Amino acid sequence: MNIVLDQVSKTFINRTSSLTALATVTLTVTSGEFVCIIGPSGCGKSTLLRLIADQIAPTGGTIHLDNKSPKAARTCKSIAWMAQQPALLPWQTVLDNVRLPLLVNRRHQHPAPSPIELLNSMGLSDFATAYPSTLSGGMQQRVALARALATGASLWLMDEPFAALDELTREALTEEVFSLWMRYHPTVLWVTHQIAEAARLADRIVVMTARPGNIRAIVSVPQPRPRDETSPEIVHHIRKLRSLLRGKG
Ligand code: ADP
Ligand code: MG
Repeated sequence: MNIVLDQVSKTFINRTSSLTALATVTLTVTSGEFVCIIGPSGCGKSTLLRLIADQIAPTGGTIHLDNKSPKAARTCKSIAWMAQQPALLPWQTVLDNVRLPLLVNRRHQHPAPSPIELLNSMGLSDFATAYPSTLSGGMQQRVALARALATGASLWLMDEPFAALDELTREALTEEVFSLWMRYHPTVLWVTHQIAEAARLADRIVVMTARPGNIRAIVSVPQPRPRDETSPEIVHHIRKLRSLLRGKG
């Protein structure tokens, strides 16, 4: 899915105060691109994803997803959302959680693997009838990932989905997402604090400034995959990203 953000801004206004979370963000992402977003906490990364997902409306500017509005894209189930909390339904089994988007919207039009197939391929088949609360955090995120895939969404918005997990689980799930991206080629926007991981995986990395959030720089990583985090080219990118985050460069 193509994403075109033109001068998008967001100011949160309530009775006593107003806060500009995002100032005039202009960004184009091509269909199938893997883009990471990094920036200091509170700089508007989640706000940016929520705008694209039509969870909130921009104060200014326009957002187009394949030339449609975010609302239209959401209605077509073209967007999958993953966050730190997997938001599974506790009273439904793993299989029913994965099936849920298909039940809620029968008109979904994207080719997608079946829920059973997904559970098998993600090593979850033994847990199809288990309830989410009996699974580890990493397994719950795996279920959330399977559910996102079941929708056949062409845009994956990932808001630090694995930040709360231990390092090994985080790495394993990151690899999983990467190989699924290689296989299905959705457009991925992934908010992360893992700079080295971003340099290893992403086509481009968007570096944001502190509030009001804006784009400081966009770093392209042209090296072919698989990439080695210790290769001179990737190390160079990691250093560059670090100094951009610190406000230099
Ligand atoms: P990040 O994800 O980069 O940490 P957020 O996008 O969550 O940052 O938030 C950006 C800024 O907007 C923060 O200062 C946050 O407090 C503020 N903010 C986010 N959502 C709301 C809201 N619903 N009402 C008021 N302020 C908000
Ligand atoms: Mg956030």
